[in-house]
Amino acid sequence: MEAITPTTLHLKKAEGLELAFSDGTEAMLPLRYLRKYCPCAGCQGERDLLGRTQLPIVSTHYDGPVTALSGELVGNYAMRVVWSDGHVAGIYTFAYLYELAQQHNRGEAPAR
Ligand SMILES: [Zn+2]
Repeated sequence: MEAITPTTLHLKKAEGLELAFSDGTEAMLPLRYLRKYCPCAGCQGERDLLGRTQLPIVSTHYDGPVTALSGELVGNYAMRVVWSDGHVAGIYTFAYLYELAQQHNRGEAPAR
């Protein structure tokens, strides 16, 4: 299967992340949505060897207004976002962003 790559990756710091992918999928993920589904272990909980999710050690779910200070590419496979609440651990792989974009477009929350 051919890898789906982003053709547009535009972080609007007070609005959201504008995305387009090579298969034609487009989405505008609001910052709040992006922040809520931060993929880092602290936000989503570590998975043990059996795939069970441990409770997060620190609850970093943040529901208030949040803005992105900056976004940077990580290699050629992911993007890291620096948030106004000081959180920097989340690395959004392109595959994960694609998943978020699709689920957001369907009006669903990712199953996490
Ligand atoms: Zn996080």
